[in-house]
Amino acid sequence: MQKDVLKWLDDTAVRYSDKTAVTDENGSITWGGFRDKSRAIAYEILKIQKESGYDCKQPVAVYMEKCKEVLVSFMGIAYCGDFYSPIDVDMPGPRAAKIIETLKPRIVITTAALKEQFDSFGYDGNYVIYETAGDDPDSRSEETRKAIDLKTYEIIDTDILYVLFTSGSTGTPKGVSITHRGVIDYIDWVTEQFSITSEDSFGNQAPFYFDNSILDIYSCMKMGAELHIIPHKLFFQPVRLLEYLQENRISTIFWVPSAMIVVSKLKALKKVDLSATLKRILFCGEVMPNKQLNIWRSFLPDALYANLYGPTEITDACTFYIVDREFSDEEALPIGKPMPNTEILVLDDDDKLVTGTDRTGELCVRGTGLAKGYYNNPEKTAAAFVQNPLNTAVPDVIYRTGDVVRYNEYGEIMYLSRKDFQIKHLGHRIELGEIETAVDSLDGISSCCCLYDEKMQKIVLFLDVPMELQDLRDKLAGMIPEYMIPGRVICTDSLPLNANGKIDRVKLKELL
Ligand code: AMP
Repeated sequence: MQKDVLKWLDDTAVRYSDKTAVTDENGSITWGGFRDKSRAIAYEILKIQKESGYDCKQPVAVYMEKCKEVLVSFMGIAYCGDFYSPIDVDMPGPRAAKIIETLKPRIVITTAALKEQFDSFGYDGNYVIYETAGDDPDSRSEETRKAIDLKTYEIIDTDILYVLFTSGSTGTPKGVSITHRGVIDYIDWVTEQFSITSEDSFGNQAPFYFDNSILDIYSCMKMGAELHIIPHKLFFQPVRLLEYLQENRISTIFWVPSAMIVVSKLKALKKVDLSATLKRILFCGEVMPNKQLNIWRSFLPDALYANLYGPTEITDACTFYIVDREFSDEEALPIGKPMPNTEILVLDDDDKLVTGTDRTGELCVRGTGLAKGYYNNPEKTAAAFVQNPLNTAVPDVIYRTGDVVRYNEYGEIMYLSRKDFQIKHLGHRIELGEIETAVDSLDGISSCCCLYDEKMQKIVLFLDVPMELQDLRDKLAGMIPEYMIPGRVICTDSLPLNANGKIDRVKLKELL
């Protein structure tokens, strides 16, 4: 019986003790070394748990640059029955402070160099400094081993494993809380569906605060495969990026379409032949245009391509489509059918089930992969995780994704659009409201509205006062992440209002 993800690390560390587990720019760690250092971290956490008298199953933040040590820390936290939440080191301070206020971490794992920066967010709790964790010989004692094993034993599969923060429309990010069971179900499906083995090598693109990384991390951990953390800068140098995949014999990638498009648009596939090594090309997180996918397919016709779809709230993905036929450049790619043990309900405005091909509805999901909700945010949780309207007999939660879909003639689900103001920009999930909240707080602004220009792939801000783009960028830089900063500003005397007195987004869209 498997009830927690640590079983994968324990088993793999025995079977593949000396095999490379994770590689980053600074070197590699073996599966045996990974487990040992994770348990050293667990020892430090246990010490704090005892000293401060808190019981486990509490949040622990990880504040580090993207590297293999982050993953080791995640597992150290899990060994103690606590749950992890990565905080991006490039995130502006005020946003990080909001996350910390919501998460209320009991401990923060960071490096000596980054501790001061974390202090500046107003946190005054406990720290584990990665470099020195496990220095104490006691961390390897029999007593410590038993104490950690006991904490792991007490985990049940509905306990939280991680909390990932996504953009929130009111300006406060939402902490999606995912359980051990959600990850076990998902990874069991991934490894079986794509026949992953210990011989595979994954080329990781997704940041660890983004849920796509779950597939990379845990597929490798379960199977004893190799995980290569691709240096971020290579995503701006497509030829070098493909050479990296070739040099490291990467067999599997799971990237956001934006990252794949950089490669296809700049014709990098012409220069580097990956046909002998790259076997699986998986993607998720936003629409994959067939025009770009067709370029990949023409250079690597024998690779397996799969379009995965899903929000963070359903443990990364809930539907999939294995590309099995030709598509013209103009056609849309299906998001396919539900993964096993997941049910998709397409509901119309009256909450009636949509079945045929002639109507659209909102994609709603049921299944054990559903998040427990948004951490410390009952209002947002209640709005998105609701009672299944088709079942009034017993409690039965579904998640309303806000995605509008329809079925095609093959019974496959087709993604159409969003119901709300959430967008995907360069693979990032953004609530336009979060940008508006930041802009509204600037001096001299009385009214603003953000729209997304799909064609130009730009976030456009409408303002009722004159302001230069650069000036706006400088002001927002310390408030919201770089990828949320508008790429264009349109200043008007006043923003048009609709009959309800709200900003008329339809009229503004005409100005794009
Ligand atoms: P995230 O929580 O960051 O994974 O974002 C989830 C949202 O991204 C979904 O609700 C969709 O709007 C969008 N999305 C994810 N995967 C796909 C896909 N394969 N095709 C189109 N949109 C997608």
